[in-house]
Amino acid sequence: MSNTHEQEVNGLTVEIERDLCIGSGNCESLAPEVFYIDTSNLAAFQDNIPDDMDRGRVMEACGLCPVDALRATDEDGEQLVP
Ligand code: SF4
Repeated sequence: MSNTHEQEVNGLTVEIERDLCIGSGNCESLAPEVFYIDTSNLAAFQDNIPDDMDRGRVMEACGLCPVDALRATDEDGEQLVP
């Protein structure tokens, strides 16, 4: 069963593929406004993500995932990361 969480972040569609996540915390370290590590030690989305969240930093955080569990797609459906 798929365990993907999806969230819009300032126009980006961000997905967490939780079956791949190893809880390294890289995403949370770089973009704590968007990601946190939940009680299952997996990345999850914060509840109150700022409307003006820096998209560049979100993409950078997605790119730091060691197992490519994070995907970012723009408004045109173009996959930006990974
Ligand atoms: S960087 Fe990737 S593996 Fe690490 S907590 Fe975030 S989603 Fe999980």
